[in-house]
Amino acid sequence: MLPNVLQIAIFWSVQVSALLVFVVPFRWAFIGLWAGSHFLRAVGLTLAFHRYFAHRAFKMHRAARFAWAFIGTAAMQKGPLWWAGHHVNHHKFADRDGDPHSPMVSGVYYAHIGWFLNDTKYDKVEATNPVIRDFAPVPEIAWLEKYFYVPPATLAAALFLAGGWPWLVWGFCLPTMTLAHATFAINTINHMFGSRRFETVDESRNNPLTAFFAVGEGWHNNHHRYQRAARNGFYWWEFDVTWYVIRAMAAIGLAWDLQAVPKRIYDEARASKARRATRSIPSIIDAAPLALDLAEDAEPV
Ligand SMILES: [Zn+2]
Ligand SMILES: [Zn+2]
Repeated sequence: MLPNVLQIAIFWSVQVSALLVFVVPFRWAFIGLWAGSHFLRAVGLTLAFHRYFAHRAFKMHRAARFAWAFIGTAAMQKGPLWWAGHHVNHHKFADRDGDPHSPMVSGVYYAHIGWFLNDTKYDKVEATNPVIRDFAPVPEIAWLEKYFYVPPATLAAALFLAGGWPWLVWGFCLPTMTLAHATFAINTINHMFGSRRFETVDESRNNPLTAFFAVGEGWHNNHHRYQRAARNGFYWWEFDVTWYVIRAMAAIGLAWDLQAVPKRIYDEARASKARRATRSIPSIIDAAPLALDLAEDAEPV
């Protein structure tokens, strides 16, 4: 691992470097470069780091696993096992002591960025963590974990060689910044703002905006209720790009054993929707006589 001071300096340099979009020449095609780099690496993070390494939501071909893990590592969010191992702890202690990033426990700044900049010397994932136990022995994954700075450096160098500063800024600096916040927002926004279909013990919420920028991860209350599913959008209208990619991989034989959302979870969603609907009706009926009573009390005697 690199020394922590260097990591913090690199992290903030990349964040600030996104401002260079105002300095380099602009072309509309650069928006496409930003989108490609942001969304492709977002799928790498969610498909490989999150749904595969942390949650085992499906199985995939070894070469595809390495390719997606490499693309995810290019997002500059440290190694796949560090990322997924901490995420397992997030679910284990969700919004209680022990959660590595909870706005309820440690405040919004720490949950968004602070935790990510912790000194890697002390902020290791424990050896008994299932992610480390099962994937650290895989040589190509252990290599990515150790040399986590190689994929982002390779991407940055390739973009610079292909198109100079404008390509580096629009294809690496800006999307690396936006992707960092799209990912971190799941830990903060999705534990503060949005709707709660399921009454989970944590503060997780569903939010379509974060679902868009984090390719499906914004259906976070669904996900906290049933982590194992390969999809986070539980209904067709809850768009989940990562789920579409997993399905496409399954169609060509690169992924299999996709974990479905069980019927009992859908039943629970229906029951809680019905409960919410019936709960609001008596409150409206109750309100009318209460208002009348108050009016009558106000009458002069
Ligand atoms: Zn969460
Ligand atoms: Zn998760």
